[in-house]
Amino acid sequence: MEKITITTGAKKRIALVAHDNMKPELTAWANAHKEKLVGHDLMATGTTGTLLQKQLGVPVSALISGPLGGDQQLGGLIAEGKIDVLIFFWDPFEPMPHDPDIKALLRVAAVWNIPIACSVSSANFLVSSPLFDQPFEKQIPDYDSYLKARV
Ligand code: PGA
Repeated sequence: MEKITITTGAKKRIALVAHDNMKPELTAWANAHKEKLVGHDLMATGTTGTLLQKQLGVPVSALISGPLGGDQQLGGLIAEGKIDVLIFFWDPFEPMPHDPDIKALLRVAAVWNIPIACSVSSANFLVSSPLFDQPFEKQIPDYDSYLKARV
């Protein structure tokens, strides 16, 4: 597939999601990195977002709750180029009723070359990268040439 290079701005649109057993880990992580996070636009699935907003005292736009479609909503936003970073602490020990949505979210994030962290240590790598607060270039699918090849 042909790719184009785009620049992601210094201010990131960061999506945060945690399954129920992982919510304490995500809120603790977000608290520890609050200073870094507040400079960016934060959004989250419904319950995660409401919790984060309460615990951090910073604005987090809460989408629909994950099992009710929030993961799909996030996937749609990624495909539209409206999310720059995904922090997704999914639960490796529990099957979920919305497992297909979770897989779809991770897939679409990989398609659009979004930086993804699914664990505390990978989230630490992301937040400590100089690129977290700076513009960076990345390659994404060239949708125009993709369409041209198909129609
Ligand atoms: P929640 O959704 O933030 O509404 O709990 C997360 C998920 O289960 O994907």
